[in-house]
Amino acid sequence: MQIINTCTSCQQPLKEVALEGHYGQSVVADICGNCHLVWFDAYESVRLSGLGWVGLLREMIAMPRASQNVPPQMQCVRCHGSLKAVRNLTRFGRTAAQECERGHGHYQGFALLLAERGLVRTLNSRDLAALKTENTPPSCLNCGAPVENVPKELSGQTPVCSHCDTPLMLFDLPRLTQALLVRHGDALQIDEPRQQLAIACRGCGQPLDATQDTSCETCGHVVAMPSMSAVLPLLDQVEPILKGMQPRQAKPWGDKLKNMKGDASATQLHRWFRHTWDVFSSGTHRYGEAHSVVNWIGFIAVTLLLYWLFG
Ligand SMILES: [Zn+2]
Ligand SMILES: [Zn+2]
Ligand SMILES: [Zn+2]
Ligand SMILES: [Zn+2]
Repeated sequence: MQIINTCTSCQQPLKEVALEGHYGQSVVADICGNCHLVWFDAYESVRLSGLGWVGLLREMIAMPRASQNVPPQMQCVRCHGSLKAVRNLTRFGRTAAQECERGHGHYQGFALLLAERGLVRTLNSRDLAALKTENTPPSCLNCGAPVENVPKELSGQTPVCSHCDTPLMLFDLPRLTQALLVRHGDALQIDEPRQQLAIACRGCGQPLDATQDTSCETCGHVVAMPSMSAVLPLLDQVEPILKGMQPRQAKPWGDKLKNMKGDASATQLHRWFRHTWDVFSSGTHRYGEAHSVVNWIGFIAVTLLLYWLFG
């Protein structure tokens, strides 16, 4: 029987989602749509592949607006013990989580989870001006509420969401794209990002280079992605590319050896085998005794292995 975990903040069932990890393993996230919280066992969140992030972002986008605020003190999903607030310094900046002291896992709000991976940045005056010309209303990346009373100017501090108190943030397009273009532990290089990722400037419509543009090369318009749903076009472009990515050593060993049969002379193994054969058949060599014994043992082992494989 499958155990459905309950959110210890709102007592409603959590949605269990299986996501892809870096080397194809499954990483499970439990998501609460009422509280916009994600529970990961142990260090699961850092093991998500680009495709895993695509899946998680799609789940987050599909959640309705958060219907309640998260209490300052929460309990562990597994043992119901009190969670401890921890602050981490990642290579992308500071982040925080509520962690079980017995090591069962941690809870994070949507915004903190995105910030931990460096996918978001705080709103600045240039973003505000860009959003104004686009007539795009921002919404809170944490709770999903539309931002009421969008400030005209920013004076010092970053404005916070009036519903959940989270600083207003936007997706950082280049960082998000780079985080997504990773699978099987490898970063994927896109040769023609303007064509392949097809993200258009919201000022002039020209294609942006999503892997590096923070503003449009043509018109200078700032790239501002002020809501969860703003990342959907990128996810739609990136997902099929990621699915087509093969792991570096996709071929099982048997197939690899069979394919080598036709052109075995090019391999390191073949060169070593020939060299050892020469040493063996000439009877004279310039290596010491120990080297010669090692060569002999290796030679016999490889001969037996080749006989077993191809004989
Ligand atoms: Zn909840
Ligand atoms: Zn626990
Ligand atoms: Zn909010
Ligand atoms: Zn433009």
